[in-house]
Amino acid sequence: MQTWTTLSLPEYKLESNGVAISSKPQIWNTETQSINEITEKDIKLYVCGITPYDATHMGHAATYLTFDLLQRLLLIQGRKVSYVQNITDVDDPLLERAIRDNMDWRDLATKEIDLFKDDMSALRVMPPQHYIGAVEAIPLVIKAIEKLISKNAVYKIENDIYFDISSDPDFGSRSHLPLAQMIEIFSQRGGDPTLPGKRNKLDCLLWRAHREGEPSWDSPFGAGRPGWHIECTAIALEYLGSAVTIQGGGSDLIFPHHEMCAAQGEVMNEVSFAKYFVHTGMIGYQGEKMSKSKGNLVFVSKLREAGIDSMAIRLALLANHYRSDREWDDLLLQNATDRLERWRKGFAKPEGPEILETISRVVDALNSDLDTSKALAHIDAWVETAIVDSGSDKNSKLANTGTLARFIDAVLGVAI
Ligand code: ZN
Repeated sequence: MQTWTTLSLPEYKLESNGVAISSKPQIWNTETQSINEITEKDIKLYVCGITPYDATHMGHAATYLTFDLLQRLLLIQGRKVSYVQNITDVDDPLLERAIRDNMDWRDLATKEIDLFKDDMSALRVMPPQHYIGAVEAIPLVIKAIEKLISKNAVYKIENDIYFDISSDPDFGSRSHLPLAQMIEIFSQRGGDPTLPGKRNKLDCLLWRAHREGEPSWDSPFGAGRPGWHIECTAIALEYLGSAVTIQGGGSDLIFPHHEMCAAQGEVMNEVSFAKYFVHTGMIGYQGEKMSKSKGNLVFVSKLREAGIDSMAIRLALLANHYRSDREWDDLLLQNATDRLERWRKGFAKPEGPEILETISRVVDALNSDLDTSKALAHIDAWVETAIVDSGSDKNSKLANTGTLARFIDAVLGVAI
């Protein structure tokens, strides 16, 4: 599937100017439950994409923006990032919504994917190199299931095919949940723990045999459609090799989705599926998690239609730490709008206060588990000095404000 418009970023090596930019990014890893330094030079990033049955809400935007930020940080430090994202363009919620709205499910998916791409472009989120839909990935899913069959890791219930979690001795090691809680969450998120015939309650569906009224595709195991977890495993491993460096998504994907993807991948290739499991917090609205089931959604597209500057939306989402569960509200957006206006005032003159120290501090803050609130505070401090002192001290050396503006655009994705 075609991505949205890409951007290229400059690499920042400012050691020669007397201010060192640290290139030791550290990130919280759900699997190790600790902050780990990303040491790889060549990074394979897989982030779970949307199911396109509704517009992009602030929770989605916060997740993709976080991985955009991580990608930008790695790129400006001279790392290579191969980024793959999927789109679950056939699944139960999409089919159910299409029936409700009396639409063809393909038309609904196309409409929402187009809107998602527009939202991502507006927010200056860099696209993945490979943006792969579930439908186009069906041959990959079939190949992945065949590999799991060869490892004796699957079984049938009637004509549906299930993954046997006992084939992965490390099952549960990425999500760290007690069994009872895993079963409860599995049930809430589309799993079927009580289905008769299952070997383990948590075994997940790999291939759903054709049902009347549902789309299906031919396969060596009969007509049907892919399960959600194997879709991501198959796409990630096809485009990124035998394993990925970073598996990313919202914290609601820790279990079962990322545990299942990792278990399937590990059984397929007999190596760890990912080195770092990175998860973003949930965005709440009016006291509850923003979700389709609760209907309390704030859409990026609606804010844009209302004339809100998409850079203010981006700054609002960057204002707090990516891992925290946090509220979206009008005050957050107003503060971000005010901050953007202040920054634009500070950058209005071609020359301003010294910038290298600010650049170094911003990188340090982002290296520290993407501490965006600290990074923004360093820029705020520079802006205040620029507004108050610019040109007043004849002895101080003035710097080119455009250089700092380009850096902020590169690393934070905020065009001032
Ligand atoms: Zn996924």
